Amino acid sequence: MEKLAIQGGTPVRDTKINYGHQYIDEADVAAVADVLRNGDLTCGPKIAELERRLCELTGAKYAVAVSNGTAALHIACQTIGVTAGDEVITTPITFAASANCALYCGAKPVFADINERTYNIDPASVAEKMTEKTKAVVAVDYTGQAAELAPLLELCRKNGAVLIEDAAHSIGTKYDGKPVGSIADLTTFSFHPVKTVTGGEGGAVLTNNAEYYKKLLLYRAHGITRDESLLEKEREGAWYYEQVALGMNYRMTDIQAALIISQLDKLERFSERRKWIVARYNEAFAEIPEVTVQEEIPESDTTRHLYILRIKPEMLTVNRRQFFDAMAAENVCCNVHYIPVYYHPYYEKLGYQKGICPKAEKLYEEIMSLPLYYAMTDQDVEDVIHAVKKVVENYRKDGR
Ligand SMILES: *Cc1c(COP(=O)(O)O)cnc(C)c1O
Repeated sequence: MEKLAIQGGTPVRDTKINYGHQYIDEADVAAVADVLRNGDLTCGPKIAELERRLCELTGAKYAVAVSNGTAALHIACQTIGVTAGDEVITTPITFAASANCALYCGAKPVFADINERTYNIDPASVAEKMTEKTKAVVAVDYTGQAAELAPLLELCRKNGAVLIEDAAHSIGTKYDGKPVGSIADLTTFSFHPVKTVTGGEGGAVLTNNAEYYKKLLLYRAHGITRDESLLEKEREGAWYYEQVALGMNYRMTDIQAALIISQLDKLERFSERRKWIVARYNEAFAEIPEVTVQEEIPESDTTRHLYILRIKPEMLTVNRRQFFDAMAAENVCCNVHYIPVYYHPYYEKLGYQKGICPKAEKLYEEIMSLPLYYAMTDQDVEDVIHAVKKVVENYRKDGR
């Protein structure tokens, strides 16, 4: 431990760099200002325009904009009727929302292990955890790499389950040449500021299924409808509407929608830059035997949201925590994605215990997320690489 203090001298950078940051330009500011000056603030034309844009981008038939990615996961589960007694399979290496959506519906999250090379949910482990109670699989496109969607869809079809793709990380990614959003039964996006495209907050659900689409609209807004085909009683007049289910208020504002539309205009640029940074990192880290990088499946053409550096603790005199702190001492501020969901006290109290997913647990001990965002300069990228090399050289076993 003491050894960390002597690493230094001058840090690799004199200013801190964070693991992620939004990119906002004047076009974004103008788009928001235009809504404030001229527009409806909610339920207006920008929502419809955003939904059209998301359909164009992904090839999905329907899109429903909502207040955030968590709301998107919740109404996706409600729409397919997830309820008490059901099980929903997901990965522990995700943000808690991917599992919480099952709990919101009274169902039980079941954790399947990951593939130790791609870090995505392993279809073989999903197959083992499937029971007659499995209502859905929430497959996360971890870091932006598409999950193994074809085998997962096949498994779901065989077992009468629904595939929900949590694409919070993967807007812009393609699987087998098709954009995410058009493949799973339901796909959810998040527009939180750390994600590739932001609206401050925001989310969306995409589907090709018309019945699902109707229900998504219902659950987005209180379970209230004017849709003739959903009314249960006689329509009493032009003002008439009914609450036919217990929905929430998960609407997005037009202010957010305008910002997201303006950001989508830049998605190709965002995507190219992120791919370039990932390629540069991969090239640099390939020469360092003490670290490994995430493997890609050939089906995924990935717009990466997170870059995961995995250390090999057996080749170093430090563990992940010390490595992480040493990077911070170089002014490179990493993060860790993620603490396995079932390690959280709330989940422990529900009865989940360590040991459920050994590969995920091992991964958690060895990873950190390096800076990756559109506005990083080439020098920022080289600084991060330099910091990794410096820390590895300082703490390499056998003083090589
Ligand atoms: C960010 C994120 C969410 C939740 O999205 P919010 O918009 O923050 O509610 C869900 N799943 C994953 C994997 C995420 O990274």
